[in-house]
Amino acid sequence: MSHRYYVEEPIIEAQATLAGPEAHHLAHVMRTKVGEVVTLFDGAGQEHTARVTKIERATIRLEVLSSAAVDREVPCPLVVGVSLPKGDRQRWLVEKLVELGVTRFVPLTTARGVAQPTDGALARLGRSVIEAAKQCERNRLMEIAAPQKWNDFISQAAPGALRLVAHPGMATQLTQLPAPSREGGVMAAVGPEGGLTDEEVRAATEAGWTAVDLGPRILRVETAATLLAGWASIVAS
Ligand code: SAH
Repeated sequence: MSHRYYVEEPIIEAQATLAGPEAHHLAHVMRTKVGEVVTLFDGAGQEHTARVTKIERATIRLEVLSSAAVDREVPCPLVVGVSLPKGDRQRWLVEKLVELGVTRFVPLTTARGVAQPTDGALARLGRSVIEAAKQCERNRLMEIAAPQKWNDFISQAAPGALRLVAHPGMATQLTQLPAPSREGGVMAAVGPEGGLTDEEVRAATEAGWTAVDLGPRILRVETAATLLAGWASIVAS
C-alpha cells in the first residue's frame, strides 16, 4: 500500500496542497522528496495518485496524475449515538467505528453520562477520524455530529432506519432482527458506563426504537458500540 494522505483543500487544475499535520507527516516523518508518488484522498469518495512537486515550510504541493472514485462504504446509512466513555477510550471507539464503516457518530448527553463532549475533545476525535481513514483505506470521512441530548436523538431519528438501543437484560437479540433497508440503514444508541435510565429506554421504545440485548456479559460502552457497528456492517452488506 502506498502511503495515504488526506487532502482538505480543493484540487484545482490537478494541483493539490497538503497542509497541517498531513504535510508534517509527509515531509518530516516520511521525509518525502520531490518526485515521490503518494495517494491522496479527499474524504468525499475520491482517491488520487499524485507526485510531490514542491516541499515548503508548512505545505506540500503535488501534481495529481489520476483520480478515481473508490467506494469502500457500507451500502446504507449507519449512525451510532454513544454516551462517551472517558479519555483514551473515546479515541479507540472512534477509530473502530471508522474502520467498521459508520457514517455518522453522535455524542449523546444522557442522565448518567460521565464525559462531556467538549469542543476540544470533538476536535481531537475529528483528527482520529482522519488517521483511521488513512489506515483502513476508507475514502469517506465518518461525520462527527454535534452532541445531542438523548431525547432529541431518539425523536429525530429517521423512521425508515432500523433503530436499536442497547440495554442489558432485554428480550430481543441481534439475531432476531430483520435486515436493514438500503435507504433507512441502521441507527444504534449506546448508554454510558452507568447505564441508561429506565425512563431513557422507555422514551426510546415509545418512539419506535427496539431495545436489544447484547449477551449475558456487561460490555464497556466502546465494546457495545463496536459490536453493534460490526453487526450492522455485516447485515447491511
Ligand atoms: N451498569 C450498566 C451497564 C452499562 S454498560 C447497566 O446495567 O445498564 C454501557 C452501555 O453499553 C449500556 O448502557 C448499554 O447501552 C451497552 N451494553 C453493555 N452491555 C450490554 C449488554 N449485555 N446488552 C445490551 N447493552 C449492553
